[in-house]
Amino acid sequence: MGFVRLLPRSSSRARDAAAEAELEPDAASELEVDVSEIDAGDAIRMPALDHLPVVEEIPAAVFTPVASAPVVIPQAPAPGATGTRVIALANQKGGVAKTTTTLNLGVAFKEMGYRVLLVDLDPQGNLTMSQGLNPDTIETSMFDVLVRKIPISDVIEKREVDLAVASIDLAGAELALAALIGRERSLEKALFEVRDRYDFILIDTPPSLGLLTINAFVAATGVIVPVQCEYLALRGLVQLENTLAMVRENLNPRVGVEGIVPTMYDARTLHAREAVEILEENFGDLVYKTRIRKTVRYAEAPVKGSSVLGYDPTGTAAEAYRDLAKEVLHGAEAREHA
Ligand code: ADP
Ligand code: MG
Repeated sequence: MGFVRLLPRSSSRARDAAAEAELEPDAASELEVDVSEIDAGDAIRMPALDHLPVVEEIPAAVFTPVASAPVVIPQAPAPGATGTRVIALANQKGGVAKTTTTLNLGVAFKEMGYRVLLVDLDPQGNLTMSQGLNPDTIETSMFDVLVRKIPISDVIEKREVDLAVASIDLAGAELALAALIGRERSLEKALFEVRDRYDFILIDTPPSLGLLTINAFVAATGVIVPVQCEYLALRGLVQLENTLAMVRENLNPRVGVEGIVPTMYDARTLHAREAVEILEENFGDLVYKTRIRKTVRYAEAPVKGSSVLGYDPTGTAAEAYRDLAKEVLHGAEAREHA
């Protein structure tokens, strides 16, 4: 079981695309291409949607297999349990529900009895705000952890879940980190202190693929990509995977995309349904079955300093994140049998 299941397509195309994506020659032969199901000359399959030029740009090698064994999934919270899953929520596009997913997925894990830490790595501090804290008045934050190397436990606030807070200072972190040796490993090192205390550490990242997001990828055991249900959402995934490939090669060989969450899904529109179809055509089992529907509940909850699970515990919006948590827990296996 790897992170990837590529759709059937010609092996020469897979090789070309792998070359385009600057993979090692060996990596191309590792792609899980099922040659028996190949349609001659097919590209990424989008029967009804061939007119969309944008998807043509996705190379066959997108979401390449990672070399290492699958991530160990904690089956039950046990004190001192090893195998903490460190998940980066990433997409360089803003407004795709990274922050919303970090918080609500984290609270859903906590409801299930897991020990959860959220890390706010976005200088905008939306995650910090969504737990009723003001990033403008916070004195020590993830900036001090990453740049001044103070212990991360000094910036963890106990709210619905434990939260390592952001402040506006974080905006200067990319620049300050750039001058440091080991600049990509700053978060990974900071997490050593608390790793054993948590089953899940979820990292909310800024809408860019800069040093902060790279720090998250280096510290992570996996990446979850929230994707808004619209055509253009696919574009950025190629760039994101290229960055991840670079991180795998140089800094963290085990990190890969664990799953893609379709967010802001409006089942009434053909557009949203087609966008999810395209996602599934291209990324298969990597796309979680849970659809996070569009509802104002997700915008209302943070105003109250709460997750949607705390704000409206019995609503469908809360239930969606509980479903997602189950899928993430059980990984690809649950997705196949859902
Ligand atoms: P990101 O962190 O990727 O920038 P956010 O999580 O901040 O995205 O979400 C962007 C905005 O969309 C926020 O105002 C949030 O409340 C709202 N939002 C998030 N998820 C949904 C959803 N499923 N339906 C409707 N609005 C949503
Ligand atoms: Mg955000």
